[in-house]
Amino acid sequence: MGYRAYKYRLYPNARQEKDLLNMFVVARHYYNMCLDLWKYTYLTAKRRPTSQQFEVMRKDYKKTIPAAKNVHSHVFQGLAKRSEEAFQGFFRRVKAGEKAGYPRYKIADRFHSIEFQQFGTGVSIEGRRVRISGVGRVRARWHRLMEGTAKTAEIIHKAGQWFVVIICEVQDKPELLKTGQAIGLDLGIASLLTTSDGDKVDHPKFYRKSQRKLRILNRALVRKKKGGKNHCKAKRRLQRHHNHVQNQRLDYAHKLSFTLVKHYDLIALEQLKVKNMVRNKYLSKSILDAGWSTFTTLLTNKAVDAGRQVMFVNPAYTSKTCSSCGALFEDLTLADRWVECRCGLSLDRDHNAARNILNQALRLWDAEVRQNVAGSRDASVPQKPCL
Ligand SMILES: [Zn+2]
Repeated sequence: MGYRAYKYRLYPNARQEKDLLNMFVVARHYYNMCLDLWKYTYLTAKRRPTSQQFEVMRKDYKKTIPAAKNVHSHVFQGLAKRSEEAFQGFFRRVKAGEKAGYPRYKIADRFHSIEFQQFGTGVSIEGRRVRISGVGRVRARWHRLMEGTAKTAEIIHKAGQWFVVIICEVQDKPELLKTGQAIGLDLGIASLLTTSDGDKVDHPKFYRKSQRKLRILNRALVRKKKGGKNHCKAKRRLQRHHNHVQNQRLDYAHKLSFTLVKHYDLIALEQLKVKNMVRNKYLSKSILDAGWSTFTTLLTNKAVDAGRQVMFVNPAYTSKTCSSCGALFEDLTLADRWVECRCGLSLDRDHNAARNILNQALRLWDAEVRQNVAGSRDASVPQKPCL
């Protein structure tokens, strides 16, 4: 059994949107009160607040604030849980000696979602609409079929748009048929990835392409008077455009990882520390734009579902080693785009690295499986995907 999230756009009418916004204000306010409760209990009693304390606070809150009357109790429970996660995370980071940010109060711009712990009570599906407790039946766009049994639901408000995310428990899908193919990938700056077969996939560069538009929208925003209606509108326009770029990136990563998982039994990658690399100020924009970590996460998840193997190998010397004889290129710099070896190898730098990555992964892979790949490789070579 696994879990899958389905996200659908909601189209509340004017009255429903008002109720939803009200619900978010109440939820945010209550969340901030939860943080206070944690702080207070820790300062006075040196312990965490009990669930009873949260319960008492919820009842008081519902009694005294008229707007909170129609908000479902699961919403409050979810927020109490969220405040706990925030503090536990804070304590964990303090203990580990990391940079530990204290959980902060949420302002409206930083509060985007509320959760319903149990699907069917606060949120349910009625006909073609989503019934939200305290709001009513909201129109939704069912762009894809939902599978499995719905467990929890979440309402999201982002850049003026509303969504419902439903988490379903689904049966495991049958694994994909083995193709007998293995591939090594070198993630890079010049091109997004280079395969061990020598193919290159260029960066889509969504962010860079849209920078012109972002600049225009940003300029429009700073010209508006703060707190005014037009400022609000301009901000929304900018947020939407950021979301658009984010969606494009995610869509691209989904499609690319799916193509790879479909065609290869074994996919080998370098274990990169993206966090460290982003600190390099000359490379950081390109690296973040590439969305590497999103890509590798999606690739790994899809591989697990399909019964494929993704392997992360040690990045040391993958560029500096000859992929056919193993000799070391001592004086290779970042500027050298081509490698030549005494053994006769003459390759693009990234292609050579990808081949090294694949070799390393194959060496690591179970000997028996490796034999299968080598044995069936001749039989099914022609079907190469076009990336
Ligand atoms: Zn060589």
